[in-house]
Amino acid sequence: MTVRIDENKVFEIIEAKKPKVVLVNAPGGLLKQTKELMEKVKQRYGVTSVLSGDSCFGICDTVDDDVEKLQADLALHIGHNAAVTEVGDYTYLVDAIDDVEFGEVVDTAAKVLAPYRRIGLATFSQHLQQLKPVKERLESKGFQVSVGRGNNLMLEGQVFGCDFSTSYPIREQVDAFAFLGESEFHAVGLALAMGKPTFMLDPYMNEVTDMKHAAEERKKRAILAVYKALDAQVFGVVTGLKEGQKMVGRSKWITKRLEMNGRKVIQLAMRDVTAERLAPHREIEAFVQTACPRISVDGFTFDRPVLSIPQADALVALIEGREPGEFLERPKWIELTVGLIN
Ligand code: SF4
Repeated sequence: MTVRIDENKVFEIIEAKKPKVVLVNAPGGLLKQTKELMEKVKQRYGVTSVLSGDSCFGICDTVDDDVEKLQADLALHIGHNAAVTEVGDYTYLVDAIDDVEFGEVVDTAAKVLAPYRRIGLATFSQHLQQLKPVKERLESKGFQVSVGRGNNLMLEGQVFGCDFSTSYPIREQVDAFAFLGESEFHAVGLALAMGKPTFMLDPYMNEVTDMKHAAEERKKRAILAVYKALDAQVFGVVTGLKEGQKMVGRSKWITKRLEMNGRKVIQLAMRDVTAERLAPHREIEAFVQTACPRISVDGFTFDRPVLSIPQADALVALIEGREPGEFLERPKWIELTVGLIN
């Protein structure tokens, strides 16, 4: 895998802004390249870089608030390309691109996708530049291919683990989705949110995976957690403290609905919502967390129900005697606050 950070952009920012100290954060998979970049910046410009050691899973994990605390001049958030290039007062988004090609895996996929003539294409940040050649290749094989339009936060055809709002509007125009890249995390999210057959095209292994099984398994667990929470009388409503996930309004709304329906609520706030952090709150029978929805949808380690926003909506519907419907099938599982900051 060759993921390249857009170093030229970093050099341009440094030359234009002339910082003395730069705060950097990047996902785990890019730490090696990020450290090499920090060294280059030091050698070329004499600029000190501080690497944030906190978790960085998505575009929600910007560290704009920490710039002043560390007496830095600006922040570089690496690897989560988006339609926005600056966030908050100090943060610049720096792209990272994987230059692997998809030709071979598209040829493999053409056989698997044969029963579906209308294909929706989607991918995550690192493979966005592959959408056009893949679209052309599939079209040359007779498929009708749609790519969802970009919006205020995401580029054309892009999805995040919690936001599928580019693909959602085209779901009725397609018979199946093809997700480009070796990320089961994104592909299974797309399958769940679209409610359509979804296939992951892995260019490294030249493998095409039907996400049906993985999506059904997560969906069952998500539904089960909602029904388990239905019996709870004491809830913890957790607001995430990460910059792009601060759903204060949602936490208030859910708290109010639970209290209106006779449940006791203890409100909590934390940066990382983990089994260890929730463990001491023994009196709480079920949690709703309004931070990253994937903590709930993919979380296999919790000893009590920990519901995401869509699951909480389903819970409230059930408590109030309404049908929850297909609660995971929606364009966004959380309204990321990243795009609103810029
Ligand atoms: S909130 Fe969304 S962008 Fe942030 S880590 Fe979770 S899935 Fe990724």
